[in-house]
Amino acid sequence: MSDCSGGSCSSCSSCSSDDPDRLPPGMLSRYNINESTADGTLIWVELVEGAEGPHVSDVSAELIAAAKGMDDGRVFAVVFGGLEVKSLYSEIFGYGADSLYHVRERSLESYSPEAYAGCLASIVERVSPAVILIGSTSRGREVAPRLAAMLGTGLTADCTGLSMDGRKLVMTRPAFGGNLLADIECTKFPQMATVRQGSFPRPEKVDGQGTAIYWQYTDGMLKDVLSEEPIAGPSDDIRDAKVLIALGGGIRDRSSIDIAESIASRIGAMVCCSRSLVERGWMPRSRQVGMSGRTVAPDIYLAFGISGAVQHRVGMSGSKRIVAINNDPDAPIHGFSDLSLITDADSVLRLLDEKMKKR
Ligand SMILES: Cc1cc2nc3c(=O)[nH]c(=O)nc-3n(C[C@H](O)[C@H](O)[C@H](O)COP(=O)(O)OP(=O)(O)OC[C@H]3O[C@@H](n4cnc5c(N)ncnc54)[C@H](O)[C@@H]3O)c2cc1C
Repeated sequence: MSDCSGGSCSSCSSCSSDDPDRLPPGMLSRYNINESTADGTLIWVELVEGAEGPHVSDVSAELIAAAKGMDDGRVFAVVFGGLEVKSLYSEIFGYGADSLYHVRERSLESYSPEAYAGCLASIVERVSPAVILIGSTSRGREVAPRLAAMLGTGLTADCTGLSMDGRKLVMTRPAFGGNLLADIECTKFPQMATVRQGSFPRPEKVDGQGTAIYWQYTDGMLKDVLSEEPIAGPSDDIRDAKVLIALGGGIRDRSSIDIAESIASRIGAMVCCSRSLVERGWMPRSRQVGMSGRTVAPDIYLAFGISGAVQHRVGMSGSKRIVAINNDPDAPIHGFSDLSLITDADSVLRLLDEKMKKR
């Protein structure tokens, strides 16, 4: 008979309540919130392929800077990739990472959610962070729940806000179909969240310094990748746009949407909207900004005929410059915009389009 005393040990395979094969020895007790000495924040830094090689995704940059500002714990960044990633070190340190774990394992150069989660779990075991943050991207949504299951902890998905209450992470996300904003706490360490892009301001790109560590993960791939085919074409995600033309209930003429699209294509912008236009059936839900839509943080947000209701504001208040075109001088949006035009929104769109065509 085994001497095993309960489910928190994983040093043998006698326990039946947990899956000991998936947890490194001592992991459960280390992450008990009452006993834990866990500290700091670990962030998976996702890279995006561009014409000039990989670059740090916006959401990862936002999370590193947000973690740095949340408390005085260390910020650990984890990045997967080959030698080309070395050129990104100083940028990642510049956003606020103190230590960078660079996973250079050849077998992990092809993305696999299981292997990435396994590798992240091995780094979590070394670092023992109190918090793990991952971008709410399609890959983040695949890796985070697998990692949470391996660590035996909870996961709050799709957060739009984070704050620290002592050692507790308060994770804010829309709930009940966007009717409420819920503050969620995790009763175990590490406390894990995936976070929507644009929930925090995009930090400036500056060079920084820190400690870089090469990490080896020998378990490698659990699957063989036979072939990979990247999907080409520009992004259709309003969260990626640097300039947004936002249309709201003050737009009276449906053809103004085509005019806005025409202006957007000339200046490299995208068109988004408030819930009013989604409810009218004029714009798809994927373009809606706000509490029950997407959170954006462009350099310029041009709001045409938008009142500035709080449910819209929470989705765009991270914009660097806000220009409001609204014919009501008392509309709330004028109170938080950098420039206000008290005039008719459809006419301004037409005028802009004509001027651009003449040029
Ligand atoms: C649970 C919940 C979740 C929600 N989620 C979202 C969300 O994600 N996103 C969102 O946007 N809303 C959301 N809403 C709805 C939100 O409360 C507002 O109703 C909505 O944002 C209003 O959109 P709007 O300002 O474009 O339209 P309106 O309220 O119709 O305001 C139109 C504005 O345009 C101005 N205007 C009128 N005519 C003109 C003109 N000719 N030229 C210029 N300006 C003009 C008016 O003065 C007014 O300020 C949510 C509501 C709830 C209850």
